[in-house]
Amino acid sequence: MYRTAKKGVENKMTQPILLITGSSRGIGTATAFKAAQKGWHVVINYKSNETAALTLQQRIEEFGGKADCIQADISDPEAITTLFEKIKTKFGLLSGLVNNAGILEQQMPFTESDLDRWHRVFNTNVIGTMLCSKEAYKHMSPKHGGNGGAIVNVSSLASITGSPFEYVDYATSKGAVDTFTKGFAKEVASENIRVNAVRPGFIETDMHATGGEPERVKRLAPSIPMQRGGTADEVANAIIWLLSEEASYTSGTFIDVAGGR
Ligand code: NAP
Repeated sequence: MYRTAKKGVENKMTQPILLITGSSRGIGTATAFKAAQKGWHVVINYKSNETAALTLQQRIEEFGGKADCIQADISDPEAITTLFEKIKTKFGLLSGLVNNAGILEQQMPFTESDLDRWHRVFNTNVIGTMLCSKEAYKHMSPKHGGNGGAIVNVSSLASITGSPFEYVDYATSKGAVDTFTKGFAKEVASENIRVNAVRPGFIETDMHATGGEPERVKRLAPSIPMQRGGTADEVANAIIWLLSEEASYTSGTFIDVAGGR
């Protein structure tokens, strides 16, 4: 766990602060719940589903955890700036960031997808991740009054498989997330900031319904060495470890949470 800042903007709360983008459902929600259990003050970011975000906040508060909700569209650069300013003003400096918000669109062969779609996917999955990381750096860097921190990017095993005939644009965006993870980790390692990523395989969340096939994970289960899809909790466990001091010498690397694929 990270200590609070010693100089500059002091944390107004005693608990280290963690922002999880896109945590109103799925892997983000599971991670937020477990992080709060580990003692993080969790900032739940969401795009549209305020009810789900507030329900998660309530669930966390019921066991004595600390959480707050802030709406922001991670594909919008101005909204990201405002989000990080709000966190600094209301709570203090971040010690943790999980770049979890990610989108895919309707399954289709790459040759049928168009430029507008690629922009939407890249604006959230790649540019959103990069902008949030740059803002988090200003919270964490000792050069800016911070005291280090940990960033975990939620990539995908699709960055390796390429997702042919379904989501090549999405897979390509996750390849960019992998490369960003490696490069940024090396740039900030000497400032006590660790940057890692998880690469989930087929995980049982509502994301597959967004792509047009709610039962996709069940269809693909026979192709997974473990013969089943993963759960959001199983991905969250890896994220929580990468955030923790137990991973203190781990940076610029990946945990594949993919049932052996
Ligand atoms: P999900 O169930 O579709 O949930 C996506 C979450 O992201 C929602 O809370 C949504 O918020 C939020 N979100 C979407 N666009 C946003 C934006 N522009 N700004 C802020 N929040 C935004 O997805 P998931 O399955 O949990 O996936 C989470 C991450 O894991 C993604 O990066 C995804 O690519 C990655 N992943 C998932 C799988 C899988 O099989 N599920 C596999 C590999 C990787 P609202 O509901 O409020 O709009």
